[in-house]
Amino acid sequence: MHTLIFVLTFFFTSILFSQSAGYTLPSLGYGYADLEPIIDSQTMRIHYTKHHQAYVSNLNKALEKDSVKPRLEELMKSISKYPMSVRNNGGGHYNHSLFWTLLSLNKNSKPSPELLTSIEKNFGGLDSLILKMNDAGMKHFGSGWVWLSKTKDNELFISTTANQDNPLMDVAEKQGTPLIGIDLWEHAYYLNYQNKRLEYLQSIWKVINWHEVSRRYAAVMTAE
Ligand code: MN
Repeated sequence: MHTLIFVLTFFFTSILFSQSAGYTLPSLGYGYADLEPIIDSQTMRIHYTKHHQAYVSNLNKALEKDSVKPRLEELMKSISKYPMSVRNNGGGHYNHSLFWTLLSLNKNSKPSPELLTSIEKNFGGLDSLILKMNDAGMKHFGSGWVWLSKTKDNELFISTTANQDNPLMDVAEKQGTPLIGIDLWEHAYYLNYQNKRLEYLQSIWKVINWHEVSRRYAAVMTAE
């Protein structure tokens, strides 16, 4: 009986927290040219098929000896136990998988009333949040990401991380669940904006998928 319980527990834990197959590139959900003129199709294509694909391939390579692969979220939360190649490529895979879902052609999307209330409480308003995120993105030196995340105490906060780190990682200076992540690597904007990171940051809000951000906010509120 105990053996059966053990086997069943292992089985269901495996389903919940792991995947046996390797990591794969998620589908984009829109065409490469669909976010033009904000994000040009060549940038989109290279970013997705070359950069993101490389993170996926290298993550699989880095974990090829592990027969059971942790789910991406679980991997992020225990990233300190893994070598740097897993941190860089696992972070790259998580961050880009999230990033694609946060972009949309629907230029009229708006935060849900619940999310907007929280944004107003934490930052004074939506315009103020955007200015603060752009400012944080500008002050971040080199490659990385700028984030809006939520702590377990329902506080929203802005942070930046270097390389492919993110606030979900147990190594993050301030930890939380990311609601928005904006790629600050030059590969995300250089063809269209060259060195003008501020112009890129100001423009990208026009294609931010507030419907998805609001869905993430509601999901994380329910989960905690
Ligand atoms: Mn990128």
